[in-house]
Parts: sequence; C-alpha cells; structure tokens
Amino acid sequence: MKEIKRIALVAHDNRKKDLIAWADWNQEVLVRHKLYSTGTTGRLVEEAIRKRLPLDAAARFEVTKLKSGPLGGDQQLGAMISDGEIDLLIFLWDPMQPQPHDVDVKALLRIAVLYNIPTACNRSTADFMISSPLLDDRYEPVLKDYSGYIGRPVLCD
Ligand code: PGA
Repeated sequence: MKEIKRIALVAHDNRKKDLIAWADWNQEVLVRHKLYSTGTTGRLVEEAIRKRLPLDAAARFEVTKLKSGPLGGDQQLGAMISDGEIDLLIFLWDPMQPQPHDVDVKALLRIAVLYNIPTACNRSTADFMISSPLLDDRYEPVLKDYSGYIGRPVLCD
C-alpha cells in the first residue's frame, strides 16, 4: 500500500507560474496525496489540477487552503509542521524581492529545518523530491534532540 503524504505548496507571487507549471506536470502524482497551501497558491494549484482531471475526479479533488501567506498562512503552515501534520514542503520563495511577511517566511523555513521536513525551495529540488521512492514509503524524519536548549538557566551578573 502506497503512503499518502501531506504536501504543503507555497509560492510567492513571482514564483506562482513556476509552481503551477510544476504542479501541472506532476499532477498524476500529486492527486494521490493530500495537498495544503497558502490561500492564493492553493486556489491556483487547485484550478490547474482540476482542469486536467475528468469531471468526477475534478469535483472530488481539493487543496486545503489556509490563509494567504502575508495574512498568516505561512505561520499556520509552521504550526502544522510543529504539530507533525505536514510531511513535505515545497516553497518557491522569491529570491529577488523582499516580502512584507519576510519574518514569517524565515520562521516557516526555520521550523521546516527544526522538524527535519523535506523542503524544496526550487523546482529541481521539488523534482528530486517528487520522484523519490521515499514518497510512497513510510518515512519518519529523525528529530534532533534539542532538549538541552530548553530551560537553560539565564545567568545574570
Ligand atoms: P499566497 O501566499 O499563496 O496566499 O500568495 C504565499 C506567500 O506569500 O507566502
């Protein structure tokens, strides 16, 4: 039995075309999994994939859409990752333009590293991830033990 992964898809405005093209190309694989997205990205991915599906499958297909990134969607995804609810993150962020929610972007990427979630920030990495045999297998990311960082006494002079 093939595993169903919970895949988060996010793209900044200048990268949305790239993500849609990638999702369109990989729709056969993507529809087997559960997809989560920030608001606008999710709407566009859903539209693009639905167009490729027969009518009945298109009606059943859904991307779970969170808030738009600048309105808290990145933070919602970060919370889902820390709750163990996301298996993979594909995040095409814009390397050429600052974003109003840069701090949220950084926080999401940090949480993805902290929880050892496979993360693609460009199409090549996304291609490697989606064609990995691990996509269909059970995979438990190894979590580093950070307990030594917690509750360290604060030393005052
Ligand atoms: P959006 O958010 O999908 O709602 O555009 C993406 C982002 O900017 O993080």
